[in-house]
Amino acid sequence: MPELPEVQTIVNDLNKKIKGDTIVGFWSGWKKAVKNISVKKFGEEIQGRKILGVRRVGKNIFIDLSYNKTIYIHLKMTGHLLVKFQNPKSKFQIKPKPQIINQKSKEEKSPLILSGHPTGQAFLKKGENGNYFDERVNQYVRHIFYLNQKSKIKNQNDNVKLKINSKFRIQNFNKTLEFSDLRKFGKIVLADTDKLESLKEIKSLGIDALSRKFTLKRFKEILKKRQNSLIGIILMNQNLIAGIGNIYRSEILFDAKILPTRKAASLKPAEIKSLYGSIKKILKKAVKMRGTSDSDYRDTAGAPGGFHKILKVYRREKQKCKKCDTMIKRIKLGQRSVYYCPNCQK
Ligand SMILES: [Zn+2]
Repeated sequence: MPELPEVQTIVNDLNKKIKGDTIVGFWSGWKKAVKNISVKKFGEEIQGRKILGVRRVGKNIFIDLSYNKTIYIHLKMTGHLLVKFQNPKSKFQIKPKPQIINQKSKEEKSPLILSGHPTGQAFLKKGENGNYFDERVNQYVRHIFYLNQKSKIKNQNDNVKLKINSKFRIQNFNKTLEFSDLRKFGKIVLADTDKLESLKEIKSLGIDALSRKFTLKRFKEILKKRQNSLIGIILMNQNLIAGIGNIYRSEILFDAKILPTRKAASLKPAEIKSLYGSIKKILKKAVKMRGTSDSDYRDTAGAPGGFHKILKVYRREKQKCKKCDTMIKRIKLGQRSVYYCPNCQK
């Protein structure tokens, strides 16, 4: 599952690539992912709104739109977002060759065939352009936002929702934001920007692990509340600290030389300080390396992150510790595997 560094990479990319664009259409091939309202209503609501910016809290992505709406996206297990440029002058141009696909029999077999796709096209054929979008992992496109770059639409005002008819949206997009999601657990919610905080999933979130407000003092307070809990469990609890998942809890605990099975109460002040430092250090390094692509995660160009190349313990069971040659162990903690070195970590 994408964690804080992967989601931050996506957010940074989106701010570079789609900020200022106007949404001119929406297509979904997996309607269950759009929560609370119908896909049709969702499409009507977002159409004509400008993208003011993209941000995140924990693993949650917020795409803020004009006229007080925010698209809230959770990528869950296998979701990632791809931005494809249709403008031949763009530096991100991928020269897609649109292909008309109408064979119904193929629709169930291949995710490349976009069933019900408004233009009847899939933009890329596997192996066609030698870019990352060709990769299988990027071809489970379930939803598409059709975008138009700022310059193409006149009289744009952040507080005015443009009226766009259906003919316009198909003819006038020059970019797409595509949600690829193999397992289909990802979700999309439309919320009022000023009421976002009151959404139950957001309200219950703990402090963001890279937020400036997440200080050593705050970390100590969190641990004090959970004295009898295991540190490996605490780090993953999104209601306490938001952003850390399965990959980074293992890496953080290895960096801090602390066993995941230690109770919070057993941690000495020096260990708490070291652990706090490791949380910030590992997450920042992973953001810098554009995340970990141990399975489905990809950035908005469809490219893998670089952090998996330097993983010390995660998914390295029965391999030698890079520091001391002891075999890395794996145990289940909070229903998920945690990896550690029984010699380096105490
Ligand atoms: Zn070791």
